[in-house]
Amino acid sequence: MFTSINPFTQETIAVYTAHTPQEIDQKLELGYRAYRQMLQIPLEQRREWMKQVAQSLKKDVDKHAALITSEMGKTLKEARAEVLKCAATAEYYAENIQDMLAPRPIKSDAYKSYVSYEPKGIILAIMPWNFPYWQVFRFAIPNILAGNTGLLKHASNVSGCALAIEKLFAESNFPEGAFQSVLVSSKDLEPIVADPRVQGVTLTGSTPAGRSVAALAGKYIKKTVLELGGSDPFIVLKDADLEAAAKTAVQGRMQNAGQSCIAAKRWIVEKEVVHAFTAEVKRIIESLQQGDPTKEATNMGPMARLDLAEELNKQLQASIAEGAELLTGGYHDGCNFAPTLLKGVNVSTTAFKEETFGPLAVIIEAANEEDAISLANETNFGLGSALWTSDLDKAARLATQIESGNVFINAMVRSDARLPFGGVKESGYGRELSLEGTHEFLNIKTVYIQ
Ligand code: NDP
Repeated sequence: MFTSINPFTQETIAVYTAHTPQEIDQKLELGYRAYRQMLQIPLEQRREWMKQVAQSLKKDVDKHAALITSEMGKTLKEARAEVLKCAATAEYYAENIQDMLAPRPIKSDAYKSYVSYEPKGIILAIMPWNFPYWQVFRFAIPNILAGNTGLLKHASNVSGCALAIEKLFAESNFPEGAFQSVLVSSKDLEPIVADPRVQGVTLTGSTPAGRSVAALAGKYIKKTVLELGGSDPFIVLKDADLEAAAKTAVQGRMQNAGQSCIAAKRWIVEKEVVHAFTAEVKRIIESLQQGDPTKEATNMGPMARLDLAEELNKQLQASIAEGAELLTGGYHDGCNFAPTLLKGVNVSTTAFKEETFGPLAVIIEAANEEDAISLANETNFGLGSALWTSDLDKAARLATQIESGNVFINAMVRSDARLPFGGVKESGYGRELSLEGTHEFLNIKTVYIQ
């Protein structure tokens, strides 16, 4: 049984029954048949169908947004933006996928040699609740266009979203089974991963979940892409545009109630500007309206689950006990967690050492820019990073020293269909989106003609 609970009202929205092993086998068969069928369907046709998926998302944006908000609590505004981002990405790939799949000629001693990018079968996607549409679509769009089919095991608290996305594809012109959802507990995934019709596994979620899925996939020699947690540094150097940096820091940390892998989780600020930066971010944080996510005026909803709010509170209390100073917020009522700011955080504070997945911002003072980079790298994670400075040559030099899958200079870290997305260290491996992400689950086939 999977229960969807509205995090703001704590009402049970729906209870879903897990699929039986027989039902799962039928889905695998359908997914495999759709893959075989898609091999015969020209790319041109698949591109048209993907444009229709985008149209359908746009037409029903309010319905999808309401479902997202009810199941995981982000504001309706954020949920609408998420659905529209999926639609825009479907359109982007429909326009650009030919270039990404075009055979790549290579000069060799052959008469002709080239690399051909070919689909492999069903890809199992294990996805989280924080962006319950975007995380799914950013995997599904390039893969389905490339000819793979998708089987989604969504997080247990967003089964409604999983089924709505399945329905959307079922109502599209793609072959039946091109995208399906399976309601299954994470402990029952082994037969699916082992099944030869499944040719890859992608997971977005916590590092422990990544460890477990990678071990399982390794047992059956299945390719994996892991997009795991992060503790992104947001570095503010003394020559930065402080007003813009403060505004972006708060947005980067507090959007989606702080529940994003690429949230700006550690604000590392050079000592000369730490006082001014702190005053400005405190002012902005205190202006945030946390509450009912369906209200237009609300700009931060509740956290998605009570256990997540309680875990964040534990990390907050531990950090205060270790010497961090609470500047604002610091309490929660159920899933409603007040936007919170701590200063005086250092490498031994819990909020520095662990990923904090909620609206908790922390300020860490750096002695100089070398110290700032060293603090940024003092973590097991390496997903995103942001660096604020008005000296762009310095920025380019420092960017090479940051251990992360991306560096955004004077901007907020975000995922974008045109740019590869993924991490290093315990934030995972492999990439999503862009050319690199599109190729992850394809057979990169060498063709040699004598
Ligand atoms: P999880 O990593 O537990 O869940 C993410 C997905 O992985 C869900 O579909 C979940 O299924 C599945 N999963 C969990 N454990 C396993 C496993 N052993 N084998 C296979 N699949 C598994 O995240 P939580 O929801 O518990 O959130 C906990 C923390 O994870 C957060 O506080 C945050 O630190 C991190 N996280 C990171 C995200 C990111 O974007 N990188 C997104 C969400 C969470 P099920 O729901 O059925 O357990």
